[in-house]
Amino acid sequence: MNVRLFTKAQFRIGTPSLADVTSPVDKEWANRIRALAAEKDAVILAHNYQVPEIQDVAHHVGDSLALSRIAATVPESTIVFCGVHFMAETAKILSYDKTIIIPDERAGCSLADTITADQLREWKAQHPGAVVVSYVNTTAAVKAETDICCTSSNAVEVVQSIPADVPVLFCPDQFLGAHVQRMTKRDNMHIWMGECHVHAGINGSELKAMVAAEPDAELFVHPECGCATSAMYLASEGVVPAERTHILSTGGMLDAARTTKAKKVLVATETGMLHQLRKVNVTTVFEPVNRAAVCKYMKMITPEKLEHALVHGTDVVDVPRDIADRARLSVERMIAIGTPSRVGE
Ligand code: SF4
Repeated sequence: MNVRLFTKAQFRIGTPSLADVTSPVDKEWANRIRALAAEKDAVILAHNYQVPEIQDVAHHVGDSLALSRIAATVPESTIVFCGVHFMAETAKILSYDKTIIIPDERAGCSLADTITADQLREWKAQHPGAVVVSYVNTTAAVKAETDICCTSSNAVEVVQSIPADVPVLFCPDQFLGAHVQRMTKRDNMHIWMGECHVHAGINGSELKAMVAAEPDAELFVHPECGCATSAMYLASEGVVPAERTHILSTGGMLDAARTTKAKKVLVATETGMLHQLRKVNVTTVFEPVNRAAVCKYMKMITPEKLEHALVHGTDVVDVPRDIADRARLSVERMIAIGTPSRVGE
């Protein structure tokens, strides 16, 4: 693979003050949200793909696994998870005794939805003896049927940790699977053909044309969340120039944004990430590779729903204890094998 893989810590922890909130209306709302959170002994976690208002009011902003790990260590008894459902479930798995709330439980994930626990059991039955590796974008029930979870940044290491003669079932992201297969040169890897709907907005010809039209721009590819694993796959195939292409975790992307000398950076990921990049560097122009790369599920979490969630304590995310216990094993194996501080999901 020619492209540079940055390996810095993956998340920005915290929005310790509300200094980022500038409009008086927003400030009033933000103060109300923080007061409600304090009253309810709640901490607000927001994924990078949330709308800017929610990112700015949250106590912590980051990627899903980073937020789950924060969830396990914060002292508050309630966690309001502004992200999609499987992420809130992962927080529950890792901090079972806490109350986890998502402002809208209908915020799902098209990638996680491409495989159910029943389908995975059936697939396993067809390949006895295979080790199941699942991307973290899966439901708790699928994680419970999984041997080892992985993220986009440590998937190669996770698969490499499995003896070469043992077959691997990789699900659900076909692009990440294809990338891992090429990197590990494994011929005993079976890949589930799932994908994220936001992929559709980041295709090869568009990526190539946009990079060619901007010869001085750098390209940041953030393979978080499945939405840009196709771009990661294309970058590692040499579709775009290696010297200008950086595959970055969240933290690596923010570090690179702070130090880049480029006038323009093209960003291949869900557009929510641009808010963080523009905040850390106001002189470089950050443009999405595709403006339509928007996760409709992430955007189901609105400021109004966050307030409603804090006032009413809904929607509570629960995972049956036996499923959580089994799912936790697959997540902990990933953490033991890989380099969880540089995960990109
Ligand atoms: S961007 Fe794609 S993978 Fe991420 S939550 Fe949305 S639908 Fe799921």
